[in-house]
Amino acid sequence: MKLLLDSTRCQGYGLCQEHAPGLVELDEWGYATVVAVPVPDGGENAARACAEACPNSALQLEK
Ligand code: SF4
Repeated sequence: MKLLLDSTRCQGYGLCQEHAPGLVELDEWGYATVVAVPVPDGGENAARACAEACPNSALQLEK
């Protein structure tokens, strides 16, 4: 599973990182970067919660 970020949609809310601190990091302005591609074993639920938390649908899961 991969967690993919469309950075053009990211508005820097930071909600994704609360759900998956090991998968996403925020820069100093709150914009996200996915740091774990592919999602490590056992991280699928966190990745799903992370994607669902984004109010701008900037994060998508790919199997
Ligand atoms: S929740 Fe969405 S908009 Fe906010 S930082 Fe994460 S990816 Fe960007």
